[in-house]
Amino acid sequence: MTVSTEKPPSDFIRDIVAEDVRAGKYKQIRIRFPPEPNGYLHIGHAKSICLNFGIAREFGGICNVRMDDTNPTKEEAEYVESIMTDVCWLIDGWGDNHVGGAPFYASDYFERFYEYAVQLIRKGKAYVCDMTPEETDAYRRLGKASGFRDRSAEENLDLFARMKAGGFADGARTLRAKIDVNAANVWLRDPVLYRIRHASHHRTGDKWCIYPMYDWAHTLSDYIEGITHSICTLEFEVHRPLYDWILDALELPEPHPHQYEFARLNLTYSVISKRKLIQLVNEKLVNGWDDPRMVTISGLRRRGVTPSALRAFAYNIGITKYPSMTDMALLEHTMRDEFNRTATRRLVVLRPIKLVLTNYPGEKIEELDAINNPEDPNAGTRKISFGRELYIERDDFMETPPPKYFRLRPGGEVRLKYAYIIKCDEVVKDEAGNVVELSCRVDLDSKSGGPTAGRKVKGTIHWVSATHAIDAEVRLYDRLFTVPEPDASGDFKSFINPNSLEVVKAKCEPALAEARPEERYQFERLGYFALDRDSTPEKQVWNRTVTLRDTWAKVK
Ligand code: ATP
Ligand code: MG
Repeated sequence: MTVSTEKPPSDFIRDIVAEDVRAGKYKQIRIRFPPEPNGYLHIGHAKSICLNFGIAREFGGICNVRMDDTNPTKEEAEYVESIMTDVCWLIDGWGDNHVGGAPFYASDYFERFYEYAVQLIRKGKAYVCDMTPEETDAYRRLGKASGFRDRSAEENLDLFARMKAGGFADGARTLRAKIDVNAANVWLRDPVLYRIRHASHHRTGDKWCIYPMYDWAHTLSDYIEGITHSICTLEFEVHRPLYDWILDALELPEPHPHQYEFARLNLTYSVISKRKLIQLVNEKLVNGWDDPRMVTISGLRRRGVTPSALRAFAYNIGITKYPSMTDMALLEHTMRDEFNRTATRRLVVLRPIKLVLTNYPGEKIEELDAINNPEDPNAGTRKISFGRELYIERDDFMETPPPKYFRLRPGGEVRLKYAYIIKCDEVVKDEAGNVVELSCRVDLDSKSGGPTAGRKVKGTIHWVSATHAIDAEVRLYDRLFTVPEPDASGDFKSFINPNSLEVVKAKCEPALAEARPEERYQFERLGYFALDRDSTPEKQVWNRTVTLRDTWAKVK
């Protein structure tokens, strides 16, 4: 499969927007991405960001980031900051003419939400209800009218003003829309619009002790910002009649925003909801929100995923109305597809074992040519130093190998990438019987003294020169969960993969000393890697972004 990040997909939402543009329904398309700042953004949000900002970009519109910050107790400024960092990172390179600048905040509209609520009361379409939250829920389930439903507008206005002024305790009263207590759609059974919460808000402080509910705040925020297409996930489909009711009940001048729903992203071998991600962080099952095993945007970024790969993934999975599960392998495939084209190749040995070439002069160093990227002729070649002492991968030698093992064995031959064919003569062991060194011979032409021409051996392995190699820490990440659907059967935390992080001390080709964090590398035969933010000039730290092949496919 080839992926193009910048070629927009087509889907039913884009079809609707295209038709509205064609019909001249709006002056300009205005979209929003409305995260609640109660956690870090995850890959599901990336899908939503690519959809919302993508549409703005494709149709000459604008997309606002709006903090849906109506719940004072769960929200923090730290989350606002991380959300903006992640959004800007993901859409970087798309140009910024479609971004509505700094974030918008639902909390900036609290005064207007209040005024609209007063209007609704005046119109006889909202009332203050004294039932407890439990009673309210029970009555709504049963389709029963509250005994407070027929209060006069004057009494409601007075009570609502006193609610705002702090006259009542938390939970003592609510403001409810007066719609239809028997409606088939439960959301229309006189939903709560305001509740009392004596809590400090991260932006408005103690100014408010009544806070708007999601539907009230969200619909009116969309209207206030002149949103044309309000795109959200399927669970809000049942809210849409309430969304439309609010706009109509207030008799707000057209044009009204319209809500459209799509299926959220679910991904195998991961949990996506913030509520679960927060547990992983708080219970220290991972090392913070940006742990490279997390499917948060910050975790994926730290792991080495690029914005373009994430966008390509979001475009590849498409937008539908049907709930489904996306295979983690598709995300990994998307990364490989990009990195195969772009990543610079280098030789690195992750689990080194010393190899001495007994017939190669100790002082001799050869500079061999190595290809930087076979997929990109412009990437050119570099020199790599070859000498008597090398490191090879411990896995590339076996004393008693199984059939069809084409790497090194006692008495066996293998080709060293970009260099000679070698033969293993002797295995040196320590007292405990561990293999610590291999004595080998280079297969030299007896006449020319150079490598023997034209000979073929089955296996080719990578290596680094022991005298030239630089040390680095490499963090080998794997999927965080051992089962495809950790959510499906009980406690997702019991399926954490105990081998999801392995740290090794690697030997790297010296050219990697020049590596920069924004660059991606293929360590030949091993996978794609990026520098971690823990890296220093003295000690490099690398993250494995993804392996070269799907190692999970055969496990299943
Ligand atoms: P979570 O379930 O993880 O807490 P949320 O929906 O509560 O997510 P919000 O911050 O309210 O998170 O979401 C902001 C926007 O991102 C919403 O429009 C929401 O529909 C969308 N979104 C959230 N999760 C996904 C997902 N998995 N796939 C696609 N879009 C998503
Ligand atoms: Mg939410």
